[in-house]
Amino acid sequence: MSGPTKDFVIVAIDGGAASGKSTSARALSERFHLLHVDTGSFYRGITAEFLRRGVAATDTDTVRGSLASLALATRLEGRSARMEIGGRVVPDAEIRSREVNDRVSHFAALPDVRNALLAYQRGQAGVARRHGFKGVVMEGRDIGSVIFPDADLRFFLQADPVERARRRASEGQQDSIVERDRLDSSRKTAPLACPPGAVSIDTTHLTPVEVVAQLAEAIAARLSPA
Ligand code: C5P
Repeated sequence: MSGPTKDFVIVAIDGGAASGKSTSARALSERFHLLHVDTGSFYRGITAEFLRRGVAATDTDTVRGSLASLALATRLEGRSARMEIGGRVVPDAEIRSREVNDRVSHFAALPDVRNALLAYQRGQAGVARRHGFKGVVMEGRDIGSVIFPDADLRFFLQADPVERARRRASEGQQDSIVERDRLDSSRKTAPLACPPGAVSIDTTHLTPVEVVAQLAEAIAARLSPA
């Protein structure tokens, strides 16, 4: 992943649930003044909205028909991009709820849902430029493969499932991460997988500080000094 240094970088971090993506992305956003984009929160927000409207993921016609009416926009909260649906940011308590944990992978498997979010996610680079960030650190499942296959840096984080379950439990969250990973890895559209050419890091035995140090070293080598 060497190359000339740049004034604006796109960093893609993919991986399964609780693999260390969010902790790393947040720390890197702060260290390098990058816009933090958690695309899982976008799929969660849309899922919460469909649950609120009583629409099931199996009702693909209604899902397809409703997507255009979501009126997606972006609000900045500190260094993070938050998705607005019809002018409202879906609160964290709602997008991290048990119901959303259970349903999100079913909505995320629908090609219509993924297509509706494609341009929105790519548009976050423009949001970052307009607000004077030095780049974007975007985390998800298909960032280095589909959203930004030409990203300046692409990472794929993995960890042992037992360790990942322990991390989620220590956050006080009930989350069926094994089942979500199974659904995310086996879907036809943009499955979770390490894209060719991405740097794969096993975080099972690393502290968050050690993971961030590895990623930060690679970013520092690509980003022009201020
Ligand atoms: O990252 P997080 O675990 O919050 O993501 C929630 C769910 O959103 C994932 O399990 C996956 O189904 C979906 N997702 C996705 N593509 C992304 C980000 C998240 O399909 N880029």
